[in-house]
Amino acid sequence: MYRLKAEDGEVEAVLPGSLRHEAAPDELPAIGDWVAYRPADAPGTPARIEHVLPRRTKLSRASAGRRAQEQVVAANVDTVFVVMGLDGDFNVRRLERFLSMIWESGAQPVVVLNKMDLLDPGRLPRFLAEADEAAPGAHVVGLTAKKGQGVEELEPYLEAGKTVALVGSSGAGKSTLINRLLGEERLATGEVREGDDRGMHTTTHRELVRLPGGALLIDNPGIRELQLWNAREGVAESFEDVEEIAAQCRFRDCRHENEPGCAVRRAVDEGDLPESRLDNYLGLRKELAHQELRQSETAQQTQKRKWKAIHSEMKRFKKERDRD
Ligand code: GDP
Ligand code: ZN
Repeated sequence: MYRLKAEDGEVEAVLPGSLRHEAAPDELPAIGDWVAYRPADAPGTPARIEHVLPRRTKLSRASAGRRAQEQVVAANVDTVFVVMGLDGDFNVRRLERFLSMIWESGAQPVVVLNKMDLLDPGRLPRFLAEADEAAPGAHVVGLTAKKGQGVEELEPYLEAGKTVALVGSSGAGKSTLINRLLGEERLATGEVREGDDRGMHTTTHRELVRLPGGALLIDNPGIRELQLWNAREGVAESFEDVEEIAAQCRFRDCRHENEPGCAVRRAVDEGDLPESRLDNYLGLRKELAHQELRQSETAQQTQKRKWKAIHSEMKRFKKERDRD
């Protein structure tokens, strides 16, 4: 069952079996998709989704499980607010991961450092600088969602017709920020539990809310265990500084481990590139390579299954022909 936000309110709709079976997992409607639907025939019955409009952007991750499959977390997002709390939640590594995914999606990332009120003001510049360094090309905003300080800096991203998604760990203050932007307490804050107790799973719930100014806000609390999906270009974009230096390495396929003439290692030695940033870059690249391997295995298995089906079909056909 899908819940659609239509011009005249919310509509419950189903995806007809024909559409569901034809669609690859990444083609199924996701939060943020625009669809054409046929209204319900009778009261109490659901509407039917007839068509999914082409997506402008898509934020994907690899699904959990043995077979690598693309899972679309949100579609048509213009801007993603990466919300991190300055109360110990801020983590450069996680930030770089989010940014790689976001650049890959086609959306624009904005780094939101929340809970500024909990930080000794003297320590703020260091966090801002660290975020800036980890997020070249992204706007970094420090704010206090709870009190509203600094929130106006987000206004340019919230024009009518724009779609914004929020990512970040639970407790970072996403619901508080949404409420602040909405000007009301629509989402319960601070009650997020991640337990085995199903009844307490409030985090799997996805929300799409419309702001008074006309922008759409997607809150996707499920993205914690991030797995990259095909984010090769996204990684290249978030680590543009490293890749620029890497272009000077003697060997084109330099792994920046201990090859001679490695410009990246030299930059680290000379203090031009933080070692931790290089570590994160190499770690993400390794994970990508691993994932691409899983994907190609999945593709091979699919091919094998397909040929098996064709062969048995041919056998059946021959048998029938011989019988006739
Ligand atoms: P979410 O899981 O990302 O949606 O996080 P919530 O919005 O539920 O916030 C988690 C907790 O952090 C709540 O207790 C909020 O009141 C608190 N919080 C959120 N923003 C701020 C802030 O700017 N300052 C302070 N001090 N606390 C905040
Ligand atoms: Zn190198």
